Amino acid sequence: MNGEVILTAKGARWAASGHPWVYRDDLRDQDASLSGEAVRVKAMNGRPLGYAFYNSKSKIGLRWLTDDPECVLDRRFWRERLKKAIDYRKRVVSDSNAHRLIFSEADGFPGLIVDRYGDVLVVQSLSLGIDRMLPMMVELLAELCAPTAIAARNDAQVRTLEGLPLEKRPLLGDPPARVEVMEGDCCYGVDIWEGHKTGIYLDQRENRLWVKKFARGRVLDAFAYQGAFSLQVAAHADQVLSIEDSERAIGLFEENIKRNNVSNIQLERANAFDRLKALEKSKEIFDLVILDPPAFARNKSELSGACRGYREINLRAIRILKPGGVLLSCSCSYQMSQELFLSVLQEAAGDAGRKLRLIECRTQGADHPILITHPESKYLKCVALEVIE
Ligand code: SAH
Repeated sequence: MNGEVILTAKGARWAASGHPWVYRDDLRDQDASLSGEAVRVKAMNGRPLGYAFYNSKSKIGLRWLTDDPECVLDRRFWRERLKKAIDYRKRVVSDSNAHRLIFSEADGFPGLIVDRYGDVLVVQSLSLGIDRMLPMMVELLAELCAPTAIAARNDAQVRTLEGLPLEKRPLLGDPPARVEVMEGDCCYGVDIWEGHKTGIYLDQRENRLWVKKFARGRVLDAFAYQGAFSLQVAAHADQVLSIEDSERAIGLFEENIKRNNVSNIQLERANAFDRLKALEKSKEIFDLVILDPPAFARNKSELSGACRGYREINLRAIRILKPGGVLLSCSCSYQMSQELFLSVLQEAAGDAGRKLRLIECRTQGADHPILITHPESKYLKCVALEVIE
């Protein structure tokens, strides 16, 4: 029998909006001892509304599982959900064996990330409810995906907000230090234990493959990480200049250059802000500039500083582009809306005294689906612009 949590009127309105979270302050009756369980959620008048994971320690008190009060949350229920997530990826991913299999709320698994790197799966469980279910999730993943190994990268800081410890550990088999995956024609080495996120930036997969059509002549890839964009465009360009400031990322980038037998990538360890300034000063010119910086704003208070940062790097990128050249500019700060990002780009173009036209506004790949009632699930902006003159 599931325990019960009763919503306030505000909580019920919020739930009716379809947002998959209810804040702790919007719960009327709760019993902290139920934390980590899937609870039956009711309105103040006793009407059953469905089921949600409950955690008294988190600001996000409830994470919605289903609106169906008759639903039985057994192994079969989770198996069906997982099967749906896997089938969806079969339809939307065709060019890579590295992609996201489960994207949390957007797949109905609140707080669960599962990334596939070939035969190896990497899991992040970011809510107490899903963390308690990990043993069953591992069994189901083993049953439906037959991986050789599963690793838990539970070292994301957000776990502390749920009262969960930070840890990295094998969940199945012996996950190797390096996994090789294919994306389009390129092979990447993935460090599943130390790499960013669960290893690499899977959310940019479609954008990396898409931007190849604009690759020619000289390309600049600032904030290059392990070179995924650089490697994709190298076959279509004369020369790629790649800038990255992390030594660990550069080590993997060098391995990737060898792995793909590429000879036209010039890799530099530098601060991209300084290097962009220097490139402008020395009047260097590019046909394509890719800017994929880390999130400059992690919360609202950092937003104005972030805008200045985005404006500066985009201004410099626009100045070093040839007429007809293309800028691919990204922001993975959820706080930065698409509208605001476009206005920053517009200001940068104005400051640079150049005319730009918008080629396409893109976002994260379809394997990172966006739940339209969960704005937090849309975080990546990837804007392609052409310098007209
Ligand atoms: N485009 C990459 C992901 C980039 S993530 C891909 O598709 O895989 C952002 C990268 O910028 C990280 O590798 C980080 O180490 C690097 N970085 C952060 N600040 C930087 C700076 N000031 N100069 C250069 N690189 C920086």
